Amino acid sequence: MLYDDFYVKSLIQTVEDWPKEGISFRDITPIFSDPKGMRMVVDAYIHRYMSTEITHIACIDARGFLIAAVLAYELQKPLILIRKKGKLPGKTISQKYALEYGEAELEIQEGAVKPGDEVLLFDDLIATGGTLFAAIKLLTDQGANIKEVAAIIDLPDLGGSQKLQDGGVPVFSLCAYAGD
Ligand code: AMP
Repeated sequence: MLYDDFYVKSLIQTVEDWPKEGISFRDITPIFSDPKGMRMVVDAYIHRYMSTEITHIACIDARGFLIAAVLAYELQKPLILIRKKGKLPGKTISQKYALEYGEAELEIQEGAVKPGDEVLLFDDLIATGGTLFAAIKLLTDQGANIKEVAAIIDLPDLGGSQKLQDGGVPVFSLCAYAGD
């Protein structure tokens, strides 16, 4: 299905002052409950990545999981979960980071990726980039290479996508909201 920016944006709901004052929260849950929107979004990534040399798809807790799991299934790639602290069993590596609203910590299982792996890293939204930088560190500390970062939404004015690209990480997002 051809990607239609207007259609996808019509599904994304903006919730003002949530989870705290001053934040315009971009809610993508209506994409998941709209089969046409879900297919449009998933197809856009499949078309982009079906002939690339990615070996793994990594995704970030929790909304990142939902699209990335479908991509991994369709592209027949291993799916690597990067989770919030305390959710993964066994030996883990963790990384603290600052959010647009608060602080958090991400974890990955030791050995989840290895040198030579070419990873597509997926999250729902890029704001300051703090979450993605933490995830990138967890992956690259284990020797993996980040082939590209993909998101549904970019908030370019918060600078994250630019910082990632300045750091040599290619970034692909389906849509952007300027202004915040
Ligand atoms: P950041 O680390 O600042 O790039 O923030 C990105 C992460 O926080 C993503 O995993 C998003 O789910 C969440 N997030 C940050 N800002 C927003 C926002 N305005 N609307 C929806 N989610 C957001």
